[in-house]
Amino acid sequence: MSVDELDPQTGLFLEGEWVPATGGSQLTTVDPATTEPITPVAAAGEADVDRAVSAARSAFPEWRDLAPDERGRIVHRIGQTIRAHVDELAEIESRDQGKPLAQAHSDMTSAARYFEYYAGAADKLEGKSVPVGPEQIDYTVREPYGVSAQIIPWNFPGNLFARGVAPALVAGNSVVVKPAEQTPLSSLRLAELCAEAGVPDGVVNVVPGFGEPAGAALTGHPHVDTITFTGSVATGRAIMRRAAEHVTPVTLELGGKNPAIVYPDADIDEAADWISLAIFTNAGQVCSAADRVLVHESVHDDLVERIVRRAAAYEIGPGHEDLDMGPLVSEAQFETVRRYVELGREEGATVATGGSPIDRPGYFFEPTVFTDVDPEHRIAREEIFGPVLTVSRFADTREAVRVANDTDYGLVAGAFTSDVTRAHRLARELEAGTVYVNKWFGDTNQTPFGGYKQSGIGREKGLEALDSYLQTKNVAVNLSEDGGGDLPGA
Ligand code: ADP
Ligand code: MG
Repeated sequence: MSVDELDPQTGLFLEGEWVPATGGSQLTTVDPATTEPITPVAAAGEADVDRAVSAARSAFPEWRDLAPDERGRIVHRIGQTIRAHVDELAEIESRDQGKPLAQAHSDMTSAARYFEYYAGAADKLEGKSVPVGPEQIDYTVREPYGVSAQIIPWNFPGNLFARGVAPALVAGNSVVVKPAEQTPLSSLRLAELCAEAGVPDGVVNVVPGFGEPAGAALTGHPHVDTITFTGSVATGRAIMRRAAEHVTPVTLELGGKNPAIVYPDADIDEAADWISLAIFTNAGQVCSAADRVLVHESVHDDLVERIVRRAAAYEIGPGHEDLDMGPLVSEAQFETVRRYVELGREEGATVATGGSPIDRPGYFFEPTVFTDVDPEHRIAREEIFGPVLTVSRFADTREAVRVANDTDYGLVAGAFTSDVTRAHRLARELEAGTVYVNKWFGDTNQTPFGGYKQSGIGREKGLEALDSYLQTKNVAVNLSEDGGGDLPGA
């Protein structure tokens, strides 16, 4: 199937219906490989967000009260329905976002897996009984919050839709999803597939639109009960501020500037493979990318040479050609990357390979490696979100750990070493929500993921993610036959 034969839905998805935005307001999503428009899509305004939240609110009690095994079966069917459409979803994603088809395919298979994984938890969300003595029965129940708002970024749009919506639904919440304005199409199709799988109308709603007004209206809405956001630190802060108005809980995953520490006793060739994959996948637009290498001075040249060789051999082109790397998602992101590469040169770092836009239509940028990077350089401290690796040297472990941790971020970190003791010591010392040893990525749907420090609040993935979608109620029942008289705090 070619993507031109696809007929993506482009309205708001409210109560199981496709409807235009109030006043017919639209945005245009483009193909970043050509800069040509793909299609206009409804752009939600405040009133549309309000309708979506009302729809989710009305649908919530019935969804919450469904027998847990039945809710689990429906969520499992979403996973199967996604699997049945995985090629089509990958085509849509690749075209809208720019990533190579194989990567989009992997994202969508993983999206199916989120629904399958969480489906099995639907009838296992148990509370506990607390032994407080013979005069009282005390137990806890885990209840959904109500309406979950999901603000989705543009780097893994369909996959992150699933990462948030699957646990939200299994826990009994209804959802309103706002996909990023650059990449709304996969969310719209996924919502339709949720309906096809048997999700009742109003339980999953999608409001494509911009951060302002749609995202802001959603995160500041008095009837949104919990917010899940993945994106930049700046936007995460803005969302927290708005959420504070109604004391709405937030789960935030906010990017990183992730260190990869390479020791002389590592398999240098394998380390070069992992690091190249970890910085150039999705054109570096990955919050858990290996952004900055800290390499022992004795193996610096060897490692750099191997990474440079791989980077220079990267084949780059539109997603549908399914090469190694596609374009950046948008003109804005392309300009950001270009500016950072200029800055790196001005700061005195050396371009070991790449460093330029590719001379063709679309937002293509060369895989770029900077050496002679001082850890104080801005290119080594700020998240670039592009295919740009910085390499700095270290002489001893204490220095490596200090530099690795000297950042406001703390999403992931990695160590390449064959010394088991050193590996585990580093795992303890690195301030990050995930530590990789002799690998990168590959945290599965089952493993908790999230940031230390400014990289976020709460955890996505794994059973821990369910904590963002369930609140605990404690029930205390008096069994005493002659009344009581407990004081608060007893
Ligand atoms: P970028 O700046 O690269 O687009 P963001 O982190 O701002 O990255 O965007 C991620 C998501 O957050 C998108 O869906 C975007 O529309 C949304 N967003 C942006 N600004 C706001 C805001 N003020 N409130 C809520 N959502 C927002
Ligand atoms: Mg697009």
